[in-house]
Amino acid sequence: MKIRHFKVTPFSIPFVEPLQTSGMTYSHREGVWIQMKWDNFTGVGEASPLPGFSTETLKEVHYALEGFHQAINGEDLDSEELFLLIEIHSQNTPSVRFALETAIYDILAKEEELPLAKYLNTNAKSEIAVNGLAGMHQPGEGFTVMKVKVGFRNLFDEIENMENLTKSFGEDIQFRLDCNGAFDLPKAIRFCKEMEKFNIDYIEQPLPADNLEDLAELTYHTEIQIAVDESLTDFQSAEKIIDEQAAHVFVIKPMVSGGFTECKKIIMLARTENIRTVITSSLETAIGRTACLHLALTNEITEACGLATGELLNEGKPTQPIHGGKIAISGGYGLGIDL
Ligand SMILES: [Mg+2]
Repeated sequence: MKIRHFKVTPFSIPFVEPLQTSGMTYSHREGVWIQMKWDNFTGVGEASPLPGFSTETLKEVHYALEGFHQAINGEDLDSEELFLLIEIHSQNTPSVRFALETAIYDILAKEEELPLAKYLNTNAKSEIAVNGLAGMHQPGEGFTVMKVKVGFRNLFDEIENMENLTKSFGEDIQFRLDCNGAFDLPKAIRFCKEMEKFNIDYIEQPLPADNLEDLAELTYHTEIQIAVDESLTDFQSAEKIIDEQAAHVFVIKPMVSGGFTECKKIIMLARTENIRTVITSSLETAIGRTACLHLALTNEITEACGLATGELLNEGKPTQPIHGGKIAISGGYGLGIDL
């Protein structure tokens, strides 16, 4: 395989409305798209570290991509050598690993005339259930699970918010409450107690990312399942969370955890421990979101995934349609979309 074209395109795309979590307000999504060519096939990928979740900076992304480009420039490499070079050049930049793996698989799947997910797993389905977002998606759109950002209202307002959501969506809809690390242990215990009367699927990252000990303690104080998101950054952190028995659910962000190879390792580990796995976007653009979709399908994820985030960004093109609470791949070969 001789890559004859390697292009990095920086982007900065505004959110439709500034996005608030308990710790951050996002106005723009920044990152790079990469594009490489082999024979007549073009592969694309996205590297966009998410502030507050990712550990690498955009500058480090550029350096890593430059290093990779130097390494492959003019070389004739088989895919094994390419993946080895990806690993070497993305040691501390998981977003780069995700982007490069996506682009190479995009090319390999196109060569085989298969959608990317089918190329990696012949059993992969072509659509997946996704959760809706409270505040954006409405009752009757087919979602069975809704995600609610919490942890920035006072407790009475949180309760009222949940009462209103339950009234409008109905008792059968489950809610995932994402706290983005807002609480300490006593507050988390109190919050969970108040939430137990609602139909809660799980509570996500109630405590700060590094506080696994208290997270494990919290599991003894509530019936609600605990999910980790910010705490889960790579395979090692997954092992640590399991050692501490701190979570029932892994929320895996491929942009943060490092792409197809690393996420598969985390998912396999979780399955041996009966931990539920959910794939979510990192608020990427269409390229990154579609890669997350293929990754979730490749790994036959059965949970509703957090991939319905396209409407948050002002990309100036239509987002993947959601039908009956599900998102499907386009049916084209490879990733199914281009820059
Ligand atoms: Mg989260």
